[in-house]
Amino acid sequence: MYEDISFVKELANTKRTITEQEEEFINKTRKSRATFYRYRKKLGLRSKHKRFEYGGSIKEICYFCLNKATLIHHINQNRKDNQKENLIPLCKGCHTKIHRVLNTIKYQKMRTHSLTT
Ligand SMILES: [Zn+2]
Ligand SMILES: [Zn+2]
Repeated sequence: MYEDISFVKELANTKRTITEQEEEFINKTRKSRATFYRYRKKLGLRSKHKRFEYGGSIKEICYFCLNKATLIHHINQNRKDNQKENLIPLCKGCHTKIHRVLNTIKYQKMRTHSLTT
C-alpha cells in the first residue's frame, strides 16, 4: 500500500493531467479510481482534483438547494467531457437524487424497449 501511495506522489510530480494520472494508477495498481483520490487526499493533493478547477473556486454552491457543493456533476454523464457547459456543482444529497432519477429513467427505457421489441 505504501508503494501505491508514493506512486500517486510520483504521478503528481509529472506534468500529466489528472485524468492521465488516474488511468496510469488504475492500470498499474489495479486499484480503483476512488483509491487514487483517497491517496491524493492523504498526500494533501486534494485541491488539485479537477472538480476544484470548476470556476476556479471550491466555494461553489449547489445548483438546486444552495447548500455548499461538494462535487461536480456531468450533465451528459460523460466524465471525460469537462467543458463548463457540461458541469454543475451539487451537494451530495442532490447528486444522489439526480442519479436515482437518471437510473430510473434508464431502467424505464430498457423496459419499454424490451416490451416493444
Ligand atoms: Zn443540493
Ligand atoms: Zn453525477
